[in-house]
This record gives sequence, C-alpha cells and structure tokens, in this order.
Amino acid sequence: MKPATVAVTAGRPPHEPDRPLSEPITMASTYVATGGLEYGRYGNPTWAAFEAALGALEGGRALAFSSGMAAVTTVLDLVGHDALVVAPAHSYTGTLLQLADLESRGRLRTKLVDITDTEAVVAACEDAALVWFESPTNPALELADIQRIAEAAHAAGAYVVVDNTFATPLRQQPIALGADLVVHSATKYLAGHSDVLMGAVVAADDQLYAVLKGRRDLLGATPGTFEAWLALRGIRTLHVRLDRAEANARVLVERLTGHPALEEVRYPGFGGIISAVLAGGEEPADRLVRSTSLWVHATSLGGVESTFERRRRWKAEPATIPDGLVRLSVGIEDVEDLWADLEQALAAL
Ligand SMILES: *Cc1c(COP(=O)(O)O)cnc(C)c1O
Repeated sequence: MKPATVAVTAGRPPHEPDRPLSEPITMASTYVATGGLEYGRYGNPTWAAFEAALGALEGGRALAFSSGMAAVTTVLDLVGHDALVVAPAHSYTGTLLQLADLESRGRLRTKLVDITDTEAVVAACEDAALVWFESPTNPALELADIQRIAEAAHAAGAYVVVDNTFATPLRQQPIALGADLVVHSATKYLAGHSDVLMGAVVAADDQLYAVLKGRRDLLGATPGTFEAWLALRGIRTLHVRLDRAEANARVLVERLTGHPALEEVRYPGFGGIISAVLAGGEEPADRLVRSTSLWVHATSLGGVESTFERRRRWKAEPATIPDGLVRLSVGIEDVEDLWADLEQALAAL
C-alpha cells in the first residue's frame, strides 16, 4: 500500500464488532503476570500502536522513546568504550552537545565531517564504529549521499544511523538506502502540533531491535501513554500536513530567492524547512523575528503553525552556521497570509 494509506491504517485495532477504530490510551504501570507485557516500562498497547504505524512507514521495527534526545542517547550507547563516531559537523545541537559530553568524559571519540563531501566522509568511515547522518542537516539543509557512505561504513563494520526527523519517512526511507537504524524526534513532524515531546528509533532487523529495546527498558527512556497517543494521532495526517507545508515552502522559496534583504535562501528541494540568511547578519535577523504577527518566534519545527528563529542565538550552534541564518518552519496556513506577514517584516528592515 501507498504511504498515505499506511499512515492512516497501520497500528489500528482489528475490525471487529464493538472494537474502537483507534487504539485507546492504556494507563498501566503493571499487567497481570505471565503475559507478554508484565510491567509498564517494558511495553504498552498505546506505544505498540504508534510503533506499528511508524515501523510500517519506515520499513523496520520501531521503538517509542520519551524524546528525540532519549532516542539519540540510547543509540549512541550502542558503541563500545573509546569507539569512533562519525557525524555531520552541522548536526542537531542536542546531538552535538551529547557527542561532546560523551567525548569529554572519555566514553567515545567523535569525528565531525562535512556530510556533503562524500569522499572525505568515506575516508573517515575507515575506523568508525558508528556513522551518524542527518540529511538534510539542521539548520544548514545540506544533503548526504546516504547510500554510498552507508556502503563504506558497513565495509568498516560500523553501524549506520540516520536522524530522519526533517525528511520523515514520506520523503526519505533510510533503511532502504542501507541504514541499520533510523532516529526520530517525533516532537516535530510526526506529532506535528507543537504540543508533545517524543522520540523513536526504527531498527532494520530483529536483533538490533532486541538490543535497543533492552537498552530502552533499562535506561527507562520510555514515553508517557498520552504522548504516544498524540504522536500516533499526528501520524494519521502526516502526509496531508507535509504536502501542504511543502507546497507553501516552495512558494515562499520562490518569492524569497533574490530578495534584497537576504544574502542566501537554502532549501533542500523537499519538506517544509527553509533557511534564509539575512544580509547584514545578526541584527536584521533579530529584528525580523520580532516583526511578524503570524510567524511565531519559537524554536522547534514541524508543527502546523509557522515558526522561525535565528539559530545562532543558541550557544551550541556551530560557528560555521551564518550569524544571520533564520530557520523557517513553514506551517499549513494559507501561503498568501504567510507571505504578506513575511514581506512586510522584510520590507521594514
Ligand atoms: C529536535 C531534534 C532532535 C531532538 O528531539 P527532542 O524531541 O527535542 O528531544 C533530534 N534531532 C533533530 C534533527 C531534531 O530536530
């Protein structure tokens, strides 16, 4: 079946008289013994419904986590002591902070690479235990040759992990490109309404799934049941929301490109995220995000409402990201309203 049908139908209770159409919220810390669940940290029917839907979309077996960072941290825990992790220099700041912290405590070593320089990344894979991808990167919106680099990583015996938060399984299926694991901040497009924190990992095979489930259960990085229910509800409309956000983004990219207030407009060719670099850097960028009424000045992304922020306001954002870069998360409002609000703010700079 096509992804839109999978998004709507996967993880539903069976069609039987008096069964609800949607998996209910099951609040339970423990279950009657000798079944498959036993205790609330090991499993929950509402998580299972979310996991079935995401796993079906990504083509693997999914595990729900309490946040994207819980998923990131649990996956990084796979590598042995002092092992090398190769990751994009422009990864999500939380991932960069986590890698730096683990490295500073002697837990692992990190090599940060320009993910667009395929030959350099392939060379860096030689001693790697784990190769981490973001593609598109956050917020530089660079794209990686996942398939080619995954081959090199596997030849070196490394795990291949793709953070698929930006692309979602509707625009990129990393397991089909050779990834062993896919990571999500379900907080973003999957849940999609700026009201829930959740994460997920999808494993390409049963053995890795079992290892990660064991890690999740022992770390206790498990989500609340209401969160899992909200994220599953979000998945039901993911394709509709993403199509609309993408259509809006395309219109805005066309109108923003060449605008005299902007030095550069970056767009990877799909999805709802645009990075615009203000001519004049930090100062006009900070003025822009304070001069709109519809666009909300807020971090995070992937919600139905349009938000934006200057990324370098965060200390952890690499210095190679331009000072004046504003990341726009395009929502599903009417694009003419979004443009009118942006246009007046840009004109006033
Ligand atoms: C937000 C984000 C994360 C972290 O997810 P949380 O749900 O905030 O913990 C990881 N990776 C990417 C690409 C993100 O955008």
